[in-house]
Amino acid sequence: MRLPYQRLVKRGVEFRQETVLSIDPQSRRVGTDKAAYDADFLVVALGADYDLTATPGFVEGGFEYYSIDGAERLRDELPRFRGGKVLLAVLSIPFKCPPAPYEGILLLHDYLVGRGIRDATQLHVVTPQPAPIPVSPEASQAVERTMAARNIEYTTRRRVYGIDPAGKVAHFKDHDEPYDLFIGIPVHRVPGVLVKAGLTENGWVKVDPLTLATPFPGVYALGDCAETGIPKAGVFAESAARAVADEIAASIRGGRPRPYDGTGLCFVEMGDGQVGRVDVHFRADGRPTAPMLGPGAEYAAEKAQFGAIRRARWFDL
Ligand SMILES: Cc1cc2nc3c(=O)[nH]c(=O)nc-3n(C[C@H](O)[C@H](O)[C@H](O)COP(=O)(O)OP(=O)(O)OC[C@H]3O[C@@H](n4cnc5c(N)ncnc54)[C@H](O)[C@@H]3O)c2cc1C
Repeated sequence: MRLPYQRLVKRGVEFRQETVLSIDPQSRRVGTDKAAYDADFLVVALGADYDLTATPGFVEGGFEYYSIDGAERLRDELPRFRGGKVLLAVLSIPFKCPPAPYEGILLLHDYLVGRGIRDATQLHVVTPQPAPIPVSPEASQAVERTMAARNIEYTTRRRVYGIDPAGKVAHFKDHDEPYDLFIGIPVHRVPGVLVKAGLTENGWVKVDPLTLATPFPGVYALGDCAETGIPKAGVFAESAARAVADEIAASIRGGRPRPYDGTGLCFVEMGDGQVGRVDVHFRADGRPTAPMLGPGAEYAAEKAQFGAIRRARWFDL
């Protein structure tokens, strides 16, 4: 999904669409393809990139729906699919939006039913994780139940290391598995410019999880590029942005902001128009809580409203 930036006009905000080529976190200087900027406070939010080449055979013979191009390629491929085995594999952790692989397979189930070829298709999801949404046992059980009711095979704690597009087999550590259509959740990486800037540790931007501050004074990071111990999702980027804004305001005006609480509202597509609502709070009483409401059609309406509010607030659409 793409939203236009044309109407992004906010009081006190100057929006420039440029490519960041360098960041010096010591001096808080950012170089782009058009200019250089010096900042008192620098907030890094460059998201996560995908490394399709990290999985041998994936570029040549796999499909993904995590990028716009990838989703369009898969959209064009699906009508050509006549049945057989679909293998959907989470290729590494961390990845964006923990429910998205399961939402994908459940929506694919509906699509295949609609085309009358579900009975001619086997669906199998493979993940290195122990459960679909590890923070929420309730939501995980609901997803697992829904997949089981739709005859979708589910394998945890296993990884696909590569695929052979000519032979149409996926390589696991100790065996191969044939497929007719391979869909992968690609390996995620921090954007290279952040590695070059010296902001990363263990692959992601190092931050204090309670303040989102990097070890460099006045430099913060949030969203998918930062390692906060919380899954990569837009709702957490949003709550982290509020925490960073409070931190910056407090360092100008004084006062002590509340630590980042890791809250977010996740809507989980279960297929057939049913949506679950999971209220995640990572630091509730020192341990994460994530109860689920639904699934039901009413949460589909709530999800649409949730999106509309943000489109209006951020993009004036
Ligand atoms: C299929 C799918 C479904 C999802 N569903 C949900 C959901 O239901 N709920 C939810 O909360 N989250 C969901 N997510 C996750 C969500 O999209 C991300 O977690 C969120 O967008 C992260 O925000 P961010 O600002 O950190 O990164 P992004 O939104 O990726 O923004 C980073 C921006 O920085 C830009 N950028 C990168 N490098 C440079 C550079 N060098 N110079 C200039 N610009 C640069 C990128 O182009 C991008 O525009 C989903 C993700 C996928 C793929």
